[in-house]
Amino acid sequence: MDRQQEFVLRTIEERNIRFVRLWFTDVLGTLKSVAVAPAELDGAFEEGIGFDGSAIEGFSRASESDMIAHPDPATFQILPQNDGTTDSARMFCDIQMPDGSPSWADPRYVLRRALSRAAERGFTFYTHPEIEFFLLKNRPSDGSEPLPIDNGGYFDMTSHDVAHDFRRAAVGALEGLGISVEFSHHEVAPGQQEIDLRYADALSMADNLMTFRHVIKEVAIAHGAHATFMPKPFKHQPGSGMHTHLSLFEGDQNAFHDPDDPLNLSKTARAFIAGLLVHAREITAVTNQWVNSYKRLWGFGSPGSIVEAPTFVCWGHANRSALVRVPRYKPGKANSTRVELRSPDTACNPYLAFAVILTAGMKGIEAGYELPPGAEDDVWSLSDVERRALGYDELPHNLNDALQTMQDSELVAEALGEHVFDFFLRNKREEWMEYRAEVSPFELRRYLPML
Ligand code: GLU
Ligand code: MG
Ligand code: MG
Repeated sequence: MDRQQEFVLRTIEERNIRFVRLWFTDVLGTLKSVAVAPAELDGAFEEGIGFDGSAIEGFSRASESDMIAHPDPATFQILPQNDGTTDSARMFCDIQMPDGSPSWADPRYVLRRALSRAAERGFTFYTHPEIEFFLLKNRPSDGSEPLPIDNGGYFDMTSHDVAHDFRRAAVGALEGLGISVEFSHHEVAPGQQEIDLRYADALSMADNLMTFRHVIKEVAIAHGAHATFMPKPFKHQPGSGMHTHLSLFEGDQNAFHDPDDPLNLSKTARAFIAGLLVHAREITAVTNQWVNSYKRLWGFGSPGSIVEAPTFVCWGHANRSALVRVPRYKPGKANSTRVELRSPDTACNPYLAFAVILTAGMKGIEAGYELPPGAEDDVWSLSDVERRALGYDELPHNLNDALQTMQDSELVAEALGEHVFDFFLRNKREEWMEYRAEVSPFELRRYLPML
């Protein structure tokens, strides 16, 4: 038993914890939980807890269904409950096969593998997401539009407002779980909120995001509301993105920073951005995994009216219309030099998304990709011809387009591993086929009166 494990056992005793929840994530990014009694934990640390993997989305084929969850003591946290009780705690698990080898289906392992490849080159990967989501009054299941909780707009602050109280409670609950929040505010659309987390290494951040989605939903319920991470619930409002700020560190040095460069960007950072751009289309199915994700990226009909979700593959300095934005440098803050990838949405599987993003950037560094000139204009207002002349590709138009590009990608196959790659493609093709067969309200509205 190591010291972290001993610490967990001691805390459980001292704090009177009665339920220890073991958490892990399926391939589509759904949080799974099994509660064990504290007395079982000794054994769980030694041998893990067995479960039937074939019942979990993407985990295994029926013939090899026995899997073992190993709790990671570094992720131990006491879970505050809505009713004020503190007798539950959680740990994230790494999943193993019965022979002790890591499960190829475990998203946490997929990310660990990508991180250790970067670590072989001396890099630690940090991420910092800006998480947008909607607070709703209701959650209709008949396909009608939900009602947002308020009519607020960007940075609005009104007294006695549910969203304000909600954000206070949510930030408190997150901080209580060791998740540091940097900013929280009302976003552009009615009911839309944003909470930005303080940067952390990518594995901790992916764990934090899984916790975040759970906590936000719980706190919303306590405030009589529903939180949704659906990328684009409203046709006439912007969607919810998860712009993610990225940097690589070598020890305590920010490998993206170069004080002698006009944008303070190192060669490493430039090659990393180039990798993101070259492979942007291939990784989009993972960063934007639902049919609905593409309504956010393309949702406003004409590109000029798209509200701050990226559509075209280019980068720019302080340019919010680019896929990759390099934020303005704050003098004296070398550690905060970073790049912002604006495509991911909040409903991705964060482990898989961070793994493909890192692999794309690392490929740029390893293969010495050249960074094309940055976009200076608002790329949404350019014509197709102008954009083509500048060489800006388009992000996939829909899930099918994204899957077609992904299926030919060696980079994504390598990043996800064969099992997750195949399962993901199969599962998502089914989703697309179901969607393709729908007769939508659009068609009925347009064609019934006409044809
Ligand atoms: N909601 C926008 C998106 O879908 C982002 C707005 C912002 O710039 O924060 O990406
Ligand atoms: Mg925002
Ligand atoms: Mg942003």
